[in-house]
Amino acid sequence: MARLVMKFGGTSVAGMERIRNVARHVKREVDAGAEVAIVVSAMAGKTDELVALCNAASNHYDPREYDAVVASGEQVSAGLLAIVLQAMGIAARSWQGWQIPILTTRAGGAARISSIEGNSIIAALKAKEVAVIAGFQGVNEETDRVTTLGRGGSDTSAVAIAAAIKADRCDIYTDVDGVYTTDPRVVPKARRLERVTCEEMLEMASLGAKVMQVRSVELAMVKRVKTFVRSSFDDPAGPCSGTLICDEEDIVEQQVVTGIAFSRDEAQITLRRVADRPGVAAAIFMPLAEAGINVDMIVQVASDDTVTTDITFTVASGDFDRARAILEKNKAQVGYAALQGASDVAKVSAIGIGMRSHAGVAAIAFKALSEKGINIRAITTSEIKFSVLIDAAYTELAVRTLHSIYGLDKG
Ligand code: ADP
Ligand code: ASP
Ligand code: MG
Repeated sequence: MARLVMKFGGTSVAGMERIRNVARHVKREVDAGAEVAIVVSAMAGKTDELVALCNAASNHYDPREYDAVVASGEQVSAGLLAIVLQAMGIAARSWQGWQIPILTTRAGGAARISSIEGNSIIAALKAKEVAVIAGFQGVNEETDRVTTLGRGGSDTSAVAIAAAIKADRCDIYTDVDGVYTTDPRVVPKARRLERVTCEEMLEMASLGAKVMQVRSVELAMVKRVKTFVRSSFDDPAGPCSGTLICDEEDIVEQQVVTGIAFSRDEAQITLRRVADRPGVAAAIFMPLAEAGINVDMIVQVASDDTVTTDITFTVASGDFDRARAILEKNKAQVGYAALQGASDVAKVSAIGIGMRSHAGVAAIAFKALSEKGINIRAITTSEIKFSVLIDAAYTELAVRTLHSIYGLDKG
């Protein structure tokens, strides 16, 4: 008998009619004889509303209370779906993170799952009861307090539950029918991928494609959870299309570039005339790391006077002010002349496992972007992707340009 985890995101449970439609998807699997555990997100917009309430309550809220507030959205949708399933004659029960329990680390608002006790859910499934689990939340093992997993965290809840109960598959139901070559809401010519490798999906997610949370892809890779992305808006009784996240050997025809991702959540910092001496990079980046600020692209310009150099790097836009404040505080210690910052920048990336074996892939992009008059502020490359930092105003043009030069446009 198949054991399935079905995850439904915020737009899929955004109102009673949508929850009823979700219940029809669940009924189809139950009728086919599967054991089913569901993971639900809060109704669309709910988490944003709860985060705004925390900010309205105080600028310096206690992260544990933030967790207590924002975890409530998932509790509501889990309860509502259980009620609707029961009304359809399907045995169902809602579960919150602490009831399973889903144990997590402490970090408020960005906890990581440390372990899941799968037996209670397995017992419910064996008793022919659908388990409707509130996504995004867990409980801290030391403090017993409710925690949340970071925005988009229900994907991670779903994959982690699938691993814990040894599910045959984890189906991520969302508002698009799979993973596309780029965000289909931005590029109408984007194509759905039948299959995408875990490595590419991981890069796409970390470079801005929010269709799956990064942690969930990492977990699917490590725990070998078979993951399928599909739409909850498809007719529950009709044929289904979607994207299977798989291993490299399962891809028959490999493209050089598989997808284009982008992120507007970037800020650029340039330090001018930095003293060019050993230890200067550590003096800049250690305090940022200690403050939990992730630095992404780093470009150091070799100057001809060899006394000073310019260093440019990027941080998430949410960390921009903090990063600047830290650098300004350490100005004398680092030894630089001026700090310049820009938050109207975006990172556009091309991802493809085929880049490993093809030279000159990025060069084509640089030429195409220059022909469109788009200036590149910084570049990073790795084995299966490259990223360019550009002015945010050109994001869509750059994404469309790269999408088309790599032959990804729908025919
Ligand atoms: P959910 O609420 O179901 O978790 P999300 O809004 O988190 O849904 O993720 C789905 C959205 O991800 C889509 O509506 C789409 O706009 C966006 N997206 C970004 N990049 C991609 C991509 N490459 N393929 C599919 N969707 C993408
Ligand atoms: N509701 C949470 C969020 O909006 C978690 C999720 O939807 O995955 O971030
Ligand atoms: Mg999501």
